[in-house]
Amino acid sequence: IFISFEGIDGVGKTTQVERLRAYVEAQGRECVVTREPGGTVLGVAIRKLLLGGVEGSDADIAPRAEALLFAADRAQHVAEVIRPALERGAVVITDRYLDSSLAYQAGGRELTAGEIRDLSMWATCELLPNRTYLLDLDPVQSHARLQHDEDRMESAGNDFQRRTRQAFLDLAKAESQRFRVIDASQSIDEVWSHIQDDFAQISQT
Ligand code: C5P
Ligand code: MG
Repeated sequence: IFISFEGIDGVGKTTQVERLRAYVEAQGRECVVTREPGGTVLGVAIRKLLLGGVEGSDADIAPRAEALLFAADRAQHVAEVIRPALERGAVVITDRYLDSSLAYQAGGRELTAGEIRDLSMWATCELLPNRTYLLDLDPVQSHARLQHDEDRMESAGNDFQRRTRQAFLDLAKAESQRFRVIDASQSIDEVWSHIQDDFAQISQT
């Protein structure tokens, strides 16, 4: 089973990923927890470029270059980590996947969603999650929750975050079979109970 968690920064994805990991492992199943960008060694190098910028260059990363770097991270991630784990029968949980590219690179940076989607489908050989949990929260609230210094993306401003949130919601509506949207203004336990109920159902079938 392949599960992804999505949502803007500070909505609590990482906390819920760890809850789900504990739940899966308690059932005695192998669970691989990973994330994007940075789920592989190559991916960590790409993540540094994306979030920290490039040493010796003041130039902005062009939106198309940024989209290709995220796609390169994802291609390596699927080839090296996700697909082999799924083939072993593991449950794979990823903190972000292609919907982040659709929401951030298409929604936020205003590239064409169709192109970003085609790029991602090519990069992953069309691997989609069985279930995607979208943790939804107002950007003002989510931003207040961040407990670390902002990275290049997080400081992109409120309008960017608002567009990105809306893009996630639109994606969830368009693919309502795959997505579950969860109100992330609820407590950690409440959010988890929705995920647990849903996961229990899909992991039976
Ligand atoms: O979730 P995490 O903090 O690891 O993501 C790193 C940063 O990259 C975040 O600030 C997120 O907004 C950004 N990002 C992005 N496009 C993606 C994935 C993440 O802009 N496809
Ligand atoms: Mg972040």
